[in-house]
Amino acid sequence: MKFEIVTIFPDFFRGPLDYGIVRRAREAKLLDIAIHDLRAFTHDRHCTVDDRPFGGGEGMVLKPEPIFECLESLGVAPREERVRADARESVVLLSPQGQMFTQTLAQQLLRHERIVLICGRYEGVDERVSEHLADREISIGDFVLSGGELAAAIVIDTMTRLVPGALGNAASSQQESFTPTADAPERVAGEPPSSTCGSGGLLDYPHYTRPADFRGLPVPEVLVNGNHEEIRKWRRRSALRKTLRNRPDLLEPAVLSAEDRKLLAEIERE
Ligand code: SAM
Repeated sequence: MKFEIVTIFPDFFRGPLDYGIVRRAREAKLLDIAIHDLRAFTHDRHCTVDDRPFGGGEGMVLKPEPIFECLESLGVAPREERVRADARESVVLLSPQGQMFTQTLAQQLLRHERIVLICGRYEGVDERVSEHLADREISIGDFVLSGGELAAAIVIDTMTRLVPGALGNAASSQQESFTPTADAPERVAGEPPSSTCGSGGLLDYPHYTRPADFRGLPVPEVLVNGNHEEIRKWRRRSALRKTLRNRPDLLEPAVLSAEDRKLLAEIERE
């Protein structure tokens, strides 16, 4: 999988993409990241990438010419080809006005072999980029960042965890928060979700490690008694409880079994 980042601040990425799982995935050649300095695609002495907005108003807008030229130099497929379901490439404009980036979207984007991430700055990017160049706009949340670079790093980090082989233990990404159970390969259609095959769209269950007693705070007894069925049930119950408390909006679309509904009713009674 290859990411191409288009930015006016190439040095921004020193650090975020050089540690942990992303670094290891790059070293193992599971992931290739290229960073393109937008100023290299300008033709004036000052390497101008922005200009004042037509119609007046605050701030500056990233000009279309360097962005179009940069993408032409990368040889990306025409937009008509990129919007097809089997497209090998995608050109993404990071924008607070975009489709929300979620674990499900990250999973869907994995089908592309190459993803170009265009990072906006200032008041944003000339709209012709989203209308005629990018095949989608992605937002990482309902808030406004000062640039798309952080958003690009977040997209890459999230997707790297889903690249086969990037995690030491492939199962870890399957049981994480927001992971639809249907995506877990071992799930049998119609079977209820279990804590070992996807969170079913819920938040992850709580994790504990040694020491078993930290300053008088013991880990839940059930986790140290070795009864796998009890542990599975406790984890599912805890995931349901945490989701109900912190993200009740996730319960509605979640895949819930009859056992889940019973546990949820118990939790609500508590
Ligand atoms: N004027 C724009 C608006 O109100 O929608 C905000 C522009 S923002 C200050 C500058 C750039 O940061 C955007 O072009 C985009 O690339 C990036 N950005 C800001 N918030 C973002 C978000 N939530 N998700 C993804 N990118 C974001």
